[in-house]
Amino acid sequence: MRRIYLDHNATTPADPRVVAAMLPFLGEIYGNASSIHSFGQQARAAVEQARESVARLIAARPAEIVFTSGGTEADNLAILGVVRASRAERKHVITSQIEHHAVLNACQAIETESVEVTYLPVSADGVADPAAVRSALRPHTVLISVMLANNELGTIQPVSEIAKIAAEAGVAFHTDAVQAACKLPLDVSRLGVDLLSLSGHKIYAPKGVGALYVRSGTRLAPIAFGGHHERDRRPGTENVPGIVALGRAAQLALDRLATEPARIAALRDRFERELLARISDVRVNGYLAPRVANTSNVSFRFIEGESLVIALDLKGVSCSTGAACSSGAIEPSHVLTAIGLPPQDARASLRFSFGHANTEADVDAALDALESAVRHLRELSPLASGS
Ligand SMILES: *Cc1c(COP(=O)(O)O)cnc(C)c1O
Repeated sequence: MRRIYLDHNATTPADPRVVAAMLPFLGEIYGNASSIHSFGQQARAAVEQARESVARLIAARPAEIVFTSGGTEADNLAILGVVRASRAERKHVITSQIEHHAVLNACQAIETESVEVTYLPVSADGVADPAAVRSALRPHTVLISVMLANNELGTIQPVSEIAKIAAEAGVAFHTDAVQAACKLPLDVSRLGVDLLSLSGHKIYAPKGVGALYVRSGTRLAPIAFGGHHERDRRPGTENVPGIVALGRAAQLALDRLATEPARIAALRDRFERELLARISDVRVNGYLAPRVANTSNVSFRFIEGESLVIALDLKGVSCSTGAACSSGAIEPSHVLTAIGLPPQDARASLRFSFGHANTEADVDAALDALESAVRHLRELSPLASGS
């Protein structure tokens, strides 16, 4: 059976060119980038070249890039690092209710350090309101963190407007751009952000590597302690193969930006158009908001999302629910709850996220699989009877 992967927001396959670039660093080029001999110099040169490529992707300077173990660590370093660098007596942070758990749970962690956090609601289409950010500002606000593209809905947040408000107030501004990289052109100056998170495995590099952009002059305390790596901002021997991979992936992302988002948008639009025409009682979440090209979040009324994911997987189509399975119970997604979906509809929602390898044939095959799986599950569903 041909397998169709529609879960690129969970992770992407490493591009063969990325794998080829990193392979020598898993083999013969094994030096520690901090060693002064030639083995070390070779590794150092590769790390610095990768830093330039990542910087170019977001129009930053190489010295402003800190390599991390991924998006989660980049988010944690931004939030904990800015908050702990502030000497203020009282501290307040503003974020949104639809952030990734890497941001939300880092914010919860600092609440235990007596930092106040405001979790702003979003519109029914999944977009944060800059005016609400402005109203939430307090004299002791030290950080605003609002993501660029939401991982469940694909909705694009008004980051540059929020950045202006942050700059006027003299507050540091972080954005999680993990789901925006390789989908939108990124320019840290145009966005106006002070900190920006990236993750390798969301942009066709392997898992376990990421980066945090830190605008020069932004005060950041380290959150781990060790050697003087990454200009004292992130200790630990550099993951040279991973960093090389991230650099290559950043180059490829930049090269593809001219054509790939438009191609993928056409696939996603075909998918949604046909879906709405062929299946009743569906709703595309975030439909009216600006969205990145690849993401489609759909509620299929009267259906349990998990059952539909499994039914589709049996038909060779891989997608996901937005729901996080914690302690065996299926919690409705915090993002879908935040846009006002009742728990029943939130649990009936699936995320389809398209990527480079997907074709029109994939979309058509996924639609066929969906149509029959939805019909079958609704026939069995007590929720659907009488509708
Ligand atoms: C995947 C993801 C992360 C976490 O990145 P990891 O590299 O998996 O730790 C953070 N934020 C968003 C929006 C994501 O989609």
